[in-house]
Amino acid sequence: MTAVLLDGKQLAQTMQAEIAAQTAELLRTRGLRPGLAAVLVGEDPASQIYVRNKRRACDKVGIASFLHELPAAVTELDLLALIARLNADPAVHGILVQLPLPPHINEAAVVDALSPFKDVDGFSPHSLGLLAAGRPRFLPCTPHGVLQLLVRNNIPVAGAHVVVIGRSNIVGKPLALILMQKGIDATVTVCHSRSKNLADWTRSADIVVAALGKARFLRADMVRPGAVVVDVGINRLPDGTLVGDVDFEAVRQVASAITPVPGGVGPMTITMLLYNTLQAARSV
Ligand code: NAD
Repeated sequence: MTAVLLDGKQLAQTMQAEIAAQTAELLRTRGLRPGLAAVLVGEDPASQIYVRNKRRACDKVGIASFLHELPAAVTELDLLALIARLNADPAVHGILVQLPLPPHINEAAVVDALSPFKDVDGFSPHSLGLLAAGRPRFLPCTPHGVLQLLVRNNIPVAGAHVVVIGRSNIVGKPLALILMQKGIDATVTVCHSRSKNLADWTRSADIVVAALGKARFLRADMVRPGAVVVDVGINRLPDGTLVGDVDFEAVRQVASAITPVPGGVGPMTITMLLYNTLQAARSV
């Protein structure tokens, strides 16, 4: 068997076209242009690229983007003051604070300061609490992208056993919460670095999601023939090659469907950020 490719690049394009149409409609009917403020602290090159890509994506779909670049030495107080201004700014519907922040800034204090109505990354305790309570407002972007990849490729999720490898607050944990929502209805197992007999769990899965950040970790013998495999990982090898957490070439021989890296989950993350920003503007 050779797995069907779950093409995130293609789906991201389709969904961004939908978001662009809905953004234009919002402008036409209510004179409202969604706006995303990006806060970038310091000069981390990877963060600069992420923020630039997010702003480009905003431009493409007609969402206004506002960049706030602060020096690495900015005080926490000044950063919190900026967040307060953005919380109160009616042109800003979503606020994105690019993480990580410099070590002298308390990341949790900054995330906690975001208006719950503008937390389009969905990382704040408020957003995660709503999700855990079964009435989500903003779904965190990467896990939401995983869900869309499954649903829009007609992969049955209801009743499926999904094994998520990784329990981080930005991927594994919220993904598990999303998949077990009423109406999505997966049976979810979350594995992590202290899980025993990991392969026994993964082999029992209808869908395996690898989100642990270890290059080519998931081997073919860890996957039940015919299972669906989603690779969230982004790892750079010493020679510069980008690979996921799945041994792609081997696993594609046993899986029924698989996401590539790059071009799988990655492009969906930005798309869901645009989606959340549009939702934030709509609910004003
Ligand atoms: P993290 O380091 O915060 O969490 C990793 C998780 O994996 C932890 O919960 C840990 O317990 C678990 N883990 C580590 N080693 C393990 C092992 N041997 N067996 C089982 N579980 C193990 O990472 P993260 O922020 O959740 O990111 C995970 C990966 O996803 C990274 O490669 C990251 O670059 C990538 N990522 C991709 C996107 C995207 O847009 N595609 C977004 C976020 C993260």
